[in-house]
Amino acid sequence: MRPPTGADYAQRAAAMVAEVAPRFAWPGGYPLALLMADGAALCPACAVDHAQAIAAAEPFDCWRAEGAFIHWEGPPLVCAHCGASVESAHGDPGGEA
Ligand SMILES: [Zn+2]
Repeated sequence: MRPPTGADYAQRAAAMVAEVAPRFAWPGGYPLALLMADGAALCPACAVDHAQAIAAAEPFDCWRAEGAFIHWEGPPLVCAHCGASVESAHGDPGGEA
């Protein structure tokens, strides 16, 4: 499969942002975040605020998104942009909790 380009990507990016926008997956209420091409995570608020930059991002641009995901387990994610933390659905089994 060829990597999606141009309009394909912009459309996919818009869908990803729309998916994380509610902040929690439904059903289940699991915390959502956006995975960026560089492996960083973006919190839903930043995804929504920067939806245009994300949709317009070229490959390897820092706003390039890979997909929406549910943060199931592990330590809280730290948003690469604003530093907000996104708690995991099941906490951190390796942590002290
Ligand atoms: Zn953020």
